[in-house]
Amino acid sequence: MIKSYDFIYRRLLEYYGPQGWWPADSDFKMMIGSILVQNTNWKNAEKALENLKHYLQPEVMHQLAEEKLAHLIRPSGYYNMKAKKIKAFLYWYKKYDYRLSLLKFREKNELRKELLNIYGIGNETADVILLYAMEKPVFIADNYARRIFRRLGYNVPHGYDRFREMVERALPEETSLFNEYHALLVAHGKTHCKAAPICEGCPLLDVCEQRF
Ligand code: SF4
Repeated sequence: MIKSYDFIYRRLLEYYGPQGWWPADSDFKMMIGSILVQNTNWKNAEKALENLKHYLQPEVMHQLAEEKLAHLIRPSGYYNMKAKKIKAFLYWYKKYDYRLSLLKFREKNELRKELLNIYGIGNETADVILLYAMEKPVFIADNYARRIFRRLGYNVPHGYDRFREMVERALPEETSLFNEYHALLVAHGKTHCKAAPICEGCPLLDVCEQRF
């Protein structure tokens, strides 16, 4: 029998413990990291962030020439494209005086629309920024979540937004819960429910339909 999203959350939390996300020490660094991590892993994004350590303030980074920015973020891959994306993001952020406090008061769906209008910001990056920087209760319907819930037996809708909305409707609107849930699903997707799953010892084995 399919269990509730809340049940799965509690099981994962019990097994993996609190994950303490996002793994960056400032909101600005986190937002830049969410662009750098596109199509790569956090280790490579971190190397690029390390190269950017003297520029991790929005005004300072905005003044950096795009070519130099691209050179510094080389370890994250797709660096020319990502430099353009970061510049586009900074251009948008400047409209708010680079002040996150002005953005946090805005309504979640309005903010998502604005973020999605920025060059290089797709659904997942927009939602990561909304959740971890702007503290909005958003479910990140990424590939880890899709793979895990599909295997568990849920009928996961095809579109990103339909899946996101389905989970959001089923859970209380609590930012801390969505923050932890995403981190736990990533932990589970990297530990047990990998592309080639390790079902032995999985904390969800007794409730999983193992739909491969
Ligand atoms: S039992 Fe296997 S398929 Fe099911 S959630 Fe665990 S690792 Fe994934």
